[in-house]
Amino acid sequence: MVKLAEWQGKVVFRKYGVPLPRGEVARTPAEAEAFVRGGKVPLPCVVKAQVLAGGRGKGGAVRFANTPEEAREAASAILALEFKGEKVREVLLEEKLPIGRELYVAMALDRSQRLPLLMASARGGVEIESVADSDIDRQTVDPFPGLTGYEKRRAAKALGLTGAPARSLERVLDSIWKVFQQEDAELVEINPLAVVGDGLVALDAKVIIEDDAAFRHPEYAEVRDDRTELEEIAREKEIAFVQLDGNIGVIANGAGLTMATLDVLKELGGEPGVFLDLGGTDDPKKVTEAFLLMARAKPTAVFLNIFGGITRCDTVAKGLVEAMHQVPANERFPLVARIRGNNEAEGVEILRSAGVTALSDLRESAKAAVDAARGRA
Ligand code: ADP
Ligand code: MG
Repeated sequence: MVKLAEWQGKVVFRKYGVPLPRGEVARTPAEAEAFVRGGKVPLPCVVKAQVLAGGRGKGGAVRFANTPEEAREAASAILALEFKGEKVREVLLEEKLPIGRELYVAMALDRSQRLPLLMASARGGVEIESVADSDIDRQTVDPFPGLTGYEKRRAAKALGLTGAPARSLERVLDSIWKVFQQEDAELVEINPLAVVGDGLVALDAKVIIEDDAAFRHPEYAEVRDDRTELEEIAREKEIAFVQLDGNIGVIANGAGLTMATLDVLKELGGEPGVFLDLGGTDDPKKVTEAFLLMARAKPTAVFLNIFGGITRCDTVAKGLVEAMHQVPANERFPLVARIRGNNEAEGVEILRSAGVTALSDLRESAKAAVDAARGRA
C-alpha cells in the first residue's frame, strides 16, 4: 500500500486546490523553531507527528504552541515519540485555525458495488470507525459522469451546510474527486474538514494510492517505508513475500492456500513469521530464489504447503532441494513439506531423499512444522 503521510497528502491536496492551513515539515526541534521565528508558520501553531497511524490527536502526537520556544519543545517531545510502533522522524507545523465545526469527507472504494464511494459525516475529528453508520452519508459515484451536482448538494445537506460553506464544500469535493481519479487513489480522506469562518479547510489528509497503479506514479516510489528490506527485495523479484512477527516460515501457492496454511499453523499453536506465495510458478529458478529469500528471514522452521494444480510438484521440489544446498550450513532450518497434486509421488521422493519431512495430511504436517519450530522434531 502506498500510504502517504499527512504532509505528503497535503502536497497532493494543494496541487488540486483543497484549502489548507499554512505549514512546514521539520525534522529537528531547531528547524521547527526556525520556521516559526521566520514567520513561515504563524502563531499560534500546531505540531503534528508525521506517522501513518491515526488517532494522533488523542495519543499526544498533536500539540499546540504559542511561542517559538513552545514550538521547539513540542517538536522535541513529539520527535522523541514512538507512536503505535512507528518512530516519529518528521513533524508538520501548521498555523492553528479557529475551528467552528469538524466534518468528515472521503472518497473511497465500495468494493462490493465496485464503485467509488463518497462519504460525508457531520461527526468529524474522531476516527470514522467509531462513528455510527447512521451518522455517515454514503453515495456511490458513477465514474463516467463523475461526481454530480446532485451528489455534492446531498453531501452538503448531510453535513448541515448552506450558503458559502456549502459552495466551499462543493469545491472541496470536486478536488478530492480529481485526486481520487487522477492519482489512482483508493482512499482520499479529510478528517477533520474544519469549518473556519465562512469557508472550509482540510486539517488532516489521508491519501492511499492503489498498489497496482503505483507503476504509474514513480513520484511515490520513495513513500514505501512500510516494507521491510526483504519485502522490498522480494517485490523487485516479483515474489509475494510478507514478514510477520512469528518464527515459522510458510511457503505456499495461491493466496487462499497461503492464508489457510497460516490459520492452521496458528490453530496448532505455531507463530507464522514469514509467508511466501509462489503463485502459479514452478520454475525451479524462481523457487530457489524465493527459498533463499525465506532463509534470509531466519525462520526457526519452514512449512511448505503446495497444491500442484498447474504447478508440478516435482519441479517445485527440485527447486527447493537446489535452494537448500545453497543455504550456508549454520543457517539451515528444519523443513516440513506437504505437496499434493500433479506429479506428487515424484516430488515427495525428491524431497525425502534430500532429508525433508514430506507428509500428505495437512494437520499432521502443520503439527510437524510447529513441533520443529519448538525444537521437538
Ligand atoms: P489524527 O487524525 O491523527 O488525530 P488530526 O490531524 O486529525 O490527527 O488532528 C487531530 C485534531 O487536532 C483535529 O481533530 C483538530 O481538532 C486538531 N487540529 C489539527 N490540525 C489543526 C490546525 N491546523 N488547527 C487547529 N486544530 C487542529
Ligand atoms: Mg484526523
